Amino acid sequence: MEFNQKEVVVIGNGIAAFGVVSKLLKHGVSPIVISPALGATYMFSGGYDIGNIESSGKYHPYKKMINPDKTIQETVQLLQNMDSSLRVSEKPLSVFTQYGGIKKTDILSFSSKLASIESIKEQTDEVGVAYLEMFRNFYSDKILLTLQKNEIKGVLPVEIHYLKRNHDAHFQNYDFAHLLEKKAAFERFITHLQKIVSQNRIKTLIFPPVLGVESFEENWSVIKKEVGIEIAETLSLVPSIVGVRVQKKIASFYKNSGVRVLSGKIIGYKKENKKIISLLTNKTEYSEIPISAAILATGKYIGGGIDLDSNFFESVFNLPLFYGDKKLDRGYYSQMFTENYFDKQPAYSIGVKINPMFQPIDSDYKIVFENLFAAGNIIQGYNYLNGDGGMVVAASTGVEAASNILNLIDLKGQKGESNEL
Ligand SMILES: Cc1cc2nc3c(=O)[nH]c(=O)nc-3n(C[C@H](O)[C@H](O)[C@H](O)COP(=O)(O)OP(=O)(O)OC[C@H]3O[C@@H](n4cnc5c(N)ncnc54)[C@H](O)[C@@H]3O)c2cc1C
Repeated sequence: MEFNQKEVVVIGNGIAAFGVVSKLLKHGVSPIVISPALGATYMFSGGYDIGNIESSGKYHPYKKMINPDKTIQETVQLLQNMDSSLRVSEKPLSVFTQYGGIKKTDILSFSSKLASIESIKEQTDEVGVAYLEMFRNFYSDKILLTLQKNEIKGVLPVEIHYLKRNHDAHFQNYDFAHLLEKKAAFERFITHLQKIVSQNRIKTLIFPPVLGVESFEENWSVIKKEVGIEIAETLSLVPSIVGVRVQKKIASFYKNSGVRVLSGKIIGYKKENKKIISLLTNKTEYSEIPISAAILATGKYIGGGIDLDSNFFESVFNLPLFYGDKKLDRGYYSQMFTENYFDKQPAYSIGVKINPMFQPIDSDYKIVFENLFAAGNIIQGYNYLNGDGGMVVAASTGVEAASNILNLIDLKGQKGESNEL
């Protein structure tokens, strides 16, 4: 494989990497994306959490941005370019989980948006909740209970016997979504829904997030046209079909934009003074990639950006990791976990410390490498489980890191040769 001498390499293939790539593409720079696997993005439950800029903590990446509102706004546009089904809500929406609880979130695909308390409040008398006897991970009864608690009456339980089988097997999200990708199965599903609708007065049916993997939007509009109802998908459990859909959308966006996506792991680097000059991979076909800049978008524990033996360590460059201002050398392991599993675990907020240019820094605030930037979950200071924001923080840090690369790094010789913002 041929490389030019000044490649921009994005290490990772999640939503943070997407933020970097789409911002660079917008300015005529086409980076390389490399990863051995998928990470947390593949598992996310379906609602894009922005978090709150004002109330975000001192170490939150939003606090490093010059104008976080503007970066978030740009990020949302880039996300919508990649997935036109995404709808932004002015106020956070309370969306159902598969377990029947609710979670607040900010950006949803059009179908999931309908499975929110706010949306159902507007049309209570013609909403049904699917009851699927073969699909145990969908808690219709709890959804109905949550609706009652929110003083929403008149929502119907609707039995769906489409998945009946002669043995004891139970469907999971993956089985169901893949089944609905098959034409014959989907046609049977339509016929079944038509029968249901002829017996029940429903316009919206709350359903698990399984309407298909790739054909989801097409399936949704066929149901609307041929059955006359809308399917409102809840958020997803893991394995998450919504996560799979997003990764597929990202992959097709890269393909259509001519982005080079390599399968492989970065296992080392060469440097001159404080600059990385090349990245080393575990692939013989492209064992060394010369670079002008690299972006570390390797995620945390699921992605593999942070690993642990008896201590936490950053897995590619051995960058220092921080919890607040505390540099995690040896001996911090036990302090990063509390006894109660459901507590805010400090371990989820650790990561690399960055300067306002999104370059990793040491405890004395010195840049580790001049041409290394960080994006997403590898950055310290936010935990999506605490309501600090998730997917949008990761993507927007990617956008911000890319802006800084465009400003700071000489990209002449790169595809597009653009340094203009
Ligand atoms: C179960 C679950 C549910 C979630 N639900 C939500 C939700 O509803 N809403 C929300 O906003 N957020 C949610 N999140 C959080 C959200 O998914 C993450 O914040 C986001 O996906 C992080 O993206 P990332 O790109 O930083 O990391 P990741 O998606 O983890 O990507 C890391 C990438 O780096 C690659 N990588 C690692 N090491 C190397 C290496 N050495 N060389 C090359 N590549 C490497 C990995 O293979 C992977 O491709 C959820 C997370 C989980 C786990």
